[in-house]
Amino acid sequence: MNDCIFCKIINKEIPATIVYEDDKILAFHDLSPVAPQHVLIIPKAHIDNMNGITEESGAVVGHIFTKMKEVAKQLGIEDSGYRIVSNCGVEGGQTVGHLHFHLAGGRQMQWPPG
Ligand code: AMP
Ligand code: ZN
Repeated sequence: MNDCIFCKIINKEIPATIVYEDDKILAFHDLSPVAPQHVLIIPKAHIDNMNGITEESGAVVGHIFTKMKEVAKQLGIEDSGYRIVSNCGVEGGQTVGHLHFHLAGGRQMQWPPG
């Protein structure tokens, strides 16, 4: 868990461009954006991915989704629209093992995803 890069961002051991922070969650710009606006929102308590969400630890997910629209508003995409994605596991395309929600917008999204 000490090697988790998102825990290191939370602990300010590696830099990130933070757009929202409180005692439970952190939102920062993705290093390799796939849209004009692309932010990651994460719980400060380490959870591997969606498979690790429990009744207890899952309360923070509700908090994340409550704040999501505020972050979207801050990015100027609240009204134009945006997409939330959480990749889980190998075939889900997860590359960082700390639960995170991609908030992406600023362009027309396509469906189905790749
Ligand atoms: P996923 O592939 O769904 O696990 O998402 C991981 C995301 O983390 C990718 O979009 C990466 O670009 C992003 N990422 C990896 N390292 C960093 C970092 N140090 N700062 C910001 N974003 C990062
Ligand atoms: Zn972590």
